[in-house]
Amino acid sequence: MIAQLVVDAQVLKNIIQDPRFYKLLPCLVNASERLRAVPATKGGCGRCQKRRLAAENPVLTDVRNCIMRLDEAGRNEFKRLLNTQRVVITAGQHGALASVAF
Ligand SMILES: [Zn+2]
Repeated sequence: MIAQLVVDAQVLKNIIQDPRFYKLLPCLVNASERLRAVPATKGGCGRCQKRRLAAENPVLTDVRNCIMRLDEAGRNEFKRLLNTQRVVITAGQHGALASVAF
C-alpha cells in the first residue's frame, strides 16, 4: 500500500475504464461511454488537443464530483481499491486548481 495517491486527470481516466470501481461508483459506467465518444487524438495539433480536452473535462468533473460525494465507507473502499492510505483529488489539468484529500 502506498501512502498517498494524487488522482489527477490521467488517474481518473484509468479509474473510469476500470470495472472494479463500477459497483462503488455507478456514475463511471456513463462516464466511460462519454469518454469513448471523445475522438482519440493522441498528439495532434493544438486545436485538436483543445477540442479533446474540452470534451473530456466535463466528464472528469462529473467523476470527481461523484467521488467526492462518497460517504466515509465509500471513501475507504475507494482507497482500498487504489491501494493507498490517502488520496488527493486535483481539479484542473495540472492540479493547479482546488484539490480535496481524504
Ligand atoms: Zn489538428
